[in-house]
Amino acid sequence: MTIPVEKNKIYELTVEALGSGGEGIGRIDGFTVFVEGPLPEEKVRVLMVKVKKSYGYGKLLEILQASPQRREPFCAVAKQCGGCQLQHLSYEGQLAYKTRKVKDDLERIGGFRNIEVKPAIGMDEPYRYRNKAQFPVGRRADGGYAIGFYAKRSHRVVDTSVCQLQNACNDEIVRIIRTFLEEFRVPFYDEERHTGLVRHILTRIGRKSGEIMVCIVINGRKLPHSHILAERLCRIEGMTSIVLNVNRERTNVILGQEVITLWGKDTISDALDGIWFEISPLSFYQVNPLQTEVLYRKAVELAELMGEETVLDLYCGIGTISLFFARKAKKVFGVEIVPEAIADARKNAARNGVMNAEFAVGAAEEVVPRLYAEQGIAADVVVVDPPRKGCDQRLLDTILQISPEKIVYVSCNSATLARDLAVLREGGYELREVQPVDQFPMTFHVECVVLMSRVRN
Ligand code: SAH
Repeated sequence: MTIPVEKNKIYELTVEALGSGGEGIGRIDGFTVFVEGPLPEEKVRVLMVKVKKSYGYGKLLEILQASPQRREPFCAVAKQCGGCQLQHLSYEGQLAYKTRKVKDDLERIGGFRNIEVKPAIGMDEPYRYRNKAQFPVGRRADGGYAIGFYAKRSHRVVDTSVCQLQNACNDEIVRIIRTFLEEFRVPFYDEERHTGLVRHILTRIGRKSGEIMVCIVINGRKLPHSHILAERLCRIEGMTSIVLNVNRERTNVILGQEVITLWGKDTISDALDGIWFEISPLSFYQVNPLQTEVLYRKAVELAELMGEETVLDLYCGIGTISLFFARKAKKVFGVEIVPEAIADARKNAARNGVMNAEFAVGAAEEVVPRLYAEQGIAADVVVVDPPRKGCDQRLLDTILQISPEKIVYVSCNSATLARDLAVLREGGYELREVQPVDQFPMTFHVECVVLMSRVRN
């Protein structure tokens, strides 16, 4: 096919859909063009900035006809910031986009046909929902400290701490740390040269407890005058834990392995659905606790437990899903790769008086095959909640050998979800329910929970 567009020329097109990064997708004489900014059904004028064999990229010049779903972004830095991608789309439109994304991925990547995806469950108030903030620290153009967020597709730090998705207490925390860094001229970390000290500021807040943790990530083991900083921060209401995290690696992974407590406890606590959890800095914990309750209740509901089941909770983190299931099942066995998270999980079971949950540290794809080979572990229900890359093939193979009646898959990436569900389908399972739950309003991230059940012969 001859390419109907040329670089540096201006074209008009109508956007048909949003891609996986929230970008508009349209066509010019059948040729696919990606444009950042416009919404479906919008007619736009674009400048072609890149032309490849089968697709191109356009830069938005003008919206000729706006969608009724278009909204004015509520954040002053919505355009520069890499955090939100969908502020210009109504919340209703965002939910519809997420529902469709799951369906499209299941059909396109997973090869499922004519499936029903339940409409994504949204929030009544889709703001200030995050319990965790991570602010990179870098250099401003004038040489001062930039504390804020990364600009889109870059590691340039934009200086601002006000974010409508975060808890308001962050403003005060960042203000205190900024004053401290300036006063003592503590060097910020330079990512390119791998020099300097302060890399990131992380905060976590327990929604139910009001407890706050501040974690300062440094390229070293000592923060000069840290006792003065701790002394200032601990006056904030709710401050419970102030820690340093040591990350000396040349990496864009935020946290290193070592944690040094400067003040207060090593963990903070939070409750989900009446279950209390201790959360240490290195442990994963869902960022939107309100929607996490919705998600986990749904996961439990889908499993239809009668009280006699054995449940495997793989990628269990601090045992959140495990303890939800332990209330309804006979026995739960959780597996997780981060040792600190498993230590939290065991404490959490004890703290809530849960006697029927056990945990093991290790990669699920190693622990589960080994236990299956050595002890022939059996399970009625297997729950998986993997990171974005999805489940390891070895793990999926072992789950098929274990042959549970039900598999509940909690996913934060519908593309790897679709790939893994196709493997389970080939292994004799059928898709029963797909329910997206919006954990990340204003962003393109999609969380969902899926039930598959074994096809009886
Ligand atoms: N179910 C938990 C955690 C989900 S996040 C919750 O909802 O809170 C995914 C978890 O998988 C993280 O805790 C991560 O540390 C863990 N993980 C990553 N790779 C793993 C692997 N190969 N085996 C086991 N756990 C893994």
